[in-house]
Amino acid sequence: MRGAGETAMDGSLPIDLKTQVAEDADDTAFVAEVQAFLAEALTEDLRQAGRETLGVHADIAACKVWQGRLFAKGWIAPAWPKAWGGTGWTPHQRFLWDRECARNDAPIMFAGGLRSLGPLLIEMGTPDQRARYIPAILSGEDIWCQGFSEPGAGSDLAAISTRAVRDGEAYVVNGSKIWTTGAHISNRMFAIVRTADGERRQQGLTFLLIDMNSPGLTVSPILGLAGEHEFNQVFFDNVRVPVANRVGEENDGWSVAKRLMQLARSNNTPPAMVRRVLRRVELAAAALGPDLEPAQRCRLAGLKIELEAFEGLELAALANGRPRLGDQLAPSMLKMIGSELHQRVAELGLEIAGPCAVGALSAVGLAGEDIDYGARAVAKHLSVRAATIYSGSSETQRNVIAQALIGR
Ligand SMILES: Cc1cc2nc3c(=O)[nH]c(=O)nc-3n(C[C@H](O)[C@H](O)[C@H](O)COP(=O)(O)OP(=O)(O)OC[C@H]3O[C@@H](n4cnc5c(N)ncnc54)[C@H](O)[C@@H]3O)c2cc1C
Repeated sequence: MRGAGETAMDGSLPIDLKTQVAEDADDTAFVAEVQAFLAEALTEDLRQAGRETLGVHADIAACKVWQGRLFAKGWIAPAWPKAWGGTGWTPHQRFLWDRECARNDAPIMFAGGLRSLGPLLIEMGTPDQRARYIPAILSGEDIWCQGFSEPGAGSDLAAISTRAVRDGEAYVVNGSKIWTTGAHISNRMFAIVRTADGERRQQGLTFLLIDMNSPGLTVSPILGLAGEHEFNQVFFDNVRVPVANRVGEENDGWSVAKRLMQLARSNNTPPAMVRRVLRRVELAAAALGPDLEPAQRCRLAGLKIELEAFEGLELAALANGRPRLGDQLAPSMLKMIGSELHQRVAELGLEIAGPCAVGALSAVGLAGEDIDYGARAVAKHLSVRAATIYSGSSETQRNVIAQALIGR
């Protein structure tokens, strides 16, 4: 009998991954319940929005409708503790839920609140902050963006220079954040700002919850490579933020932000997101039938296997209680592997689109349907270049992994 982690003689997945990914009899009823719900609640307009997703979230109007339906069902925050609105599902059930959503083209949510801030507030927020913000995150009334990066502070996040100066019961914030995904559709931002100049640059940062409608705050759009408007630059000109909106201690924002990144990072390119793109590529390959290049057929098969392995890794991390893995290793591995796989899948999609992709640029000699398909393959390929940059670039993740492995 093989032990956990051993590879079978026939080259199949190690037994522990295989048993985790496969559905067993116990899951049949759960999957049937999920499928019945999706068949009813996931209307064609929402599926269409899911299919058309270019970046990290679907069209915001579709996200809101989908969030409302999940909220009404009580399924909006499967990863949260049940006492705070979670579903109480096992890690395997959460995985199956994500996979069914991907298979059915559910919209990918804009999830700064659900994925990052909510879990952080549950752990570190004051009772008032939890009472005020958690219900609005669950219902979708509040949409949160993340204000970490600045023109001079990306990978080197400790270089943050946006300043907050205490003035009575408020901080007065001046400076700028950049690459802020969804700032134009959010009514709230969580941010780290500089409140002191410590001996180490990581000291002297403070974590604040900011109302995007505050006087003095302006949002300026930045277009992505594919021409999409997903991120922005945000300017603060004497923006007042109540001291009650601080999470953690003043000047200890670095540890708060680090905790938030641990909670959020592994989820940024989940297998379900890659599965969605792979499904489109599979459909394109199927449409070509015997005309698909043998080398591309091989690569497609290889990517499917890699996705299975990535799903196994995600599930193993989930089963270990992902946010509590005790180190940075698993979140960084999942982020790095997921985003690089995502890019390779989109790249194959572009290659399979071939003449349609070229034709989409010139729109010569192609039917409208092919132009649409080619244009989407080009746009997806361009848009997904960002995946190995946001939430910590692949190079940064490799540094974290190396440091964790050598115990520094
Ligand atoms: C689509 C997208 C959405 C984003 N959304 C948000 C958001 O919502 N909120 C937010 O705060 N930020 C956001 N960001 C910003 C993102 O976190 C930063 O772009 C990222 O951290 C990299 O920082 P940088 O752009 O300043 O590049 P730099 O840090 O200047 O890096 C430039 C290059 O140098 C490499 N490099 C840097 N340091 C090292 C090192 N020590 N070792 C090896 N290589 C290194 C990097 O990997 C990269 O290739 C987003 C970015 C993108 C692309």
